[in-house]
Amino acid sequence: MLAARDLVRPLGASLLVFSAGCASSTHDAPEAPKHFASHLADVTTEDWQPLELDRALERLATRDNWEDHGRPLHLPKHPAEKYLRGMIVVLDPGHGGKADVEGYKRGPTGVREAEMNLRVAKLLRALLEEAGVTVTLTRESEVSEAADDRLKDTHKRRADIANDHPRPDGTTGADLFLSLHHNAVSKATTNWPSVWFHGQVDQSEVALDIARYIGHRLGADLRCAEVGKTSIMMSDQQMYKRGFAVLRNAKVPAVLLESSFFTHPEEEQRLRDAAYNLREAYAIYVGLVEYAFGGRPTQTLPEITRDDNAMAIATTLSEGLPGWWGSDRQRTLSSTISIYLDGDRIDASFDPKTKQLSASAPWPATGSVPLRIHHANFYKHHNWPQRYMITIDGDDARCAAAR
Ligand SMILES: [Zn+2]
Repeated sequence: MLAARDLVRPLGASLLVFSAGCASSTHDAPEAPKHFASHLADVTTEDWQPLELDRALERLATRDNWEDHGRPLHLPKHPAEKYLRGMIVVLDPGHGGKADVEGYKRGPTGVREAEMNLRVAKLLRALLEEAGVTVTLTRESEVSEAADDRLKDTHKRRADIANDHPRPDGTTGADLFLSLHHNAVSKATTNWPSVWFHGQVDQSEVALDIARYIGHRLGADLRCAEVGKTSIMMSDQQMYKRGFAVLRNAKVPAVLLESSFFTHPEEEQRLRDAAYNLREAYAIYVGLVEYAFGGRPTQTLPEITRDDNAMAIATTLSEGLPGWWGSDRQRTLSSTISIYLDGDRIDASFDPKTKQLSASAPWPATGSVPLRIHHANFYKHHNWPQRYMITIDGDDARCAAAR
């Protein structure tokens, strides 16, 4: 196991480099660099000098405005992108198919949402595929058999690409369905990012885990001037009683992004620019890396046994995390563990050593009984799957994952 001193050593070594730089510092104070990032990037060159505290404080006096877009576009591979490897993601560039309909999803000068959504999807695919993610787009050009706004059932068709996506183990279902959109409203100054989930919060725990990371990244990178005006995360039922059809039909974790407003005149012009689309794709990529870093908990298929007139339920929880330093400690939050049988919460006990979760309830009469299991790891990331169906047949019971 990694000892604390092993972690300290590299830090100590890098501190020595810094202090050697200070000791030999006889320079006239250089011009404070505009961006710390570019200043620090040169740290290995011979003429590099550390910035003095006073100059760093001065730099704070000339901070950019939040909506400033003059910053360079940095696109480093995130060191933690390895945690994305093996994920299956379906990207759904919103709309397509109504280019000839006047004013349909267009900005003030006519820029089409369908086209910006597709550019972001293709750029994001490139970033994710390089990280070892299996990516499927619901459309590669203006329309596909599934993604075409002229089709009445286009939203279900788009979601079904994620629902039916084959997995290496022979089962189906993508790990994530991500619908990519940009927003519109009559007020020209409106510009904030939002990430939408389906229904009630309790229905969409995994979607919320993902939405939070992507939403904050979009807020930081796109620099919509109105970040913080309202919540980044929103339920699709705030818009429509039944929610968005594309999210309602998704049986896998799903979120819909409205990354910024193309009805904002300047934002519309930026959204024409593939470099700005790349900034957005990169923000989503980093958000997904950060999500994947925190893992997705799961559990073994629950075992159901009959004990006199009681039903015993047993499953082993997994935090969905690697065997990092500290993995011998409990990484599942006890307060997040819950089991619901037929909609009612039942008592459950968790053994942190074996990670076994057990519960019992009266043996039900013949029929099908829905079972839900919830838990979260110390990144507050929720488990998947959460729903099962127990089929009772006399003294026997069969349990299978349900959606
Ligand atoms: Zn849209």
